[in-house]
Amino acid sequence: ILQLRAVGKSYGDNRVLKGIDLDVMQGEIVTLIGPSGSGKTTALRCMNFLEAYDEGEIWIKGQLLGYRSTGRTLRDRDSEATIAEIRRPVAMVFQQFNLWPHMSVVDNVATPLVLAKKVPKSEARRKALAALARVALEHKADVYPTRLSGGQQQRVGIARALAIEPEVMLLDEPTSALDPELVEEVLTVIRSLAQEGMTMVMVTHEMSFAAKISDKVVFMEAGRIVEAGPPAQLFGSTRTTRLQQFLKPWF
Ligand code: ATP
Repeated sequence: ILQLRAVGKSYGDNRVLKGIDLDVMQGEIVTLIGPSGSGKTTALRCMNFLEAYDEGEIWIKGQLLGYRSTGRTLRDRDSEATIAEIRRPVAMVFQQFNLWPHMSVVDNVATPLVLAKKVPKSEARRKALAALARVALEHKADVYPTRLSGGQQQRVGIARALAIEPEVMLLDEPTSALDPELVEEVLTVIRSLAQEGMTMVMVTHEMSFAAKISDKVVFMEAGRIVEAGPPAQLFGSTRTTRLQQFLKPWF
C-alpha cells in the first residue's frame, strides 16, 4: 500500500535521509525505532508529503506521491490538489496532538472532514461522533480539549485521524508527550486499531510495545535503515551489535 524507494531528504547541507527503502503492506504494522535525530520523524512526514522528499520515490497505492515523474533529480512537483488526492488514504497522528484549543472535541474531529473532504456539516458531526466512540470519548464531544487529560487529547487526535476513514495511519511518537500513567490508554486504542486490521506506521520509543504489536520493526540510524524485520529477529538474540547497544536500556 506504501512503498519507499531510495528516498532521500536534505535540510540544506544536512542529508537526514540517505536512501530509505520500505514496503508497507495492507494490514501491516511497521514501527520505526532508532536514536534521536536518526530521521524517523522525517521519514514519516515524507510518507504523506508533509515534508517534500528530494530523492527517490514514494508510492501510495501505486501512485507516485508529490511529483509528476520519477527518476530525475530536479522534478516537477504535482499540484496541491493532486498531492491531496494521492495522500487521501493516509492520516497522521502527531506527538503534540495538534488540537485546536478554541474548538470543542467534536469540532476538532469534524472540521478536517468539512474543510478537506467537503463533507456536509451534519454528516461530518455524525462521522466525528462515530470516530470518538471508537476511542471511547463520545461523552466528551462537547467539551474543549484543554479540559481533557493528555491521554484523552491524544485519543481525540487518533479519532480525528480515524474520521477521514484512512487506509494507512502514520503515528509520530503518539505517547511520548504523555505522563507515564497516561501512556497505556493510548496504547490500548492503538492496539485495538491493530486488531481491526488498520495499516499503521509508527515512530515510537515504546520498545516493549513495538515488540508486541509490530509485524515489522525498522531500526534507523543516521538517515539509513540499518536493520528491518519481524520483532523476533530485531529484538531476539541475533540482533546486531549496534542494535544491541541501542536496545540495552529496554531489554
Ligand atoms: P527524534 O527521535 O528525536 O524525534 P528522529 O529520528 O525523528 O529523532 P528527525 O526528527 O527526523 O529525527 O530529525 C533528523 C534530523 O533532521 C535531525 O538532525 C534534525 O535536526 C533535522 N531536522 C528535522 N527537521 C528539520 C527542519 N525542519 N529543518 C532543519 N533540520 C531538521
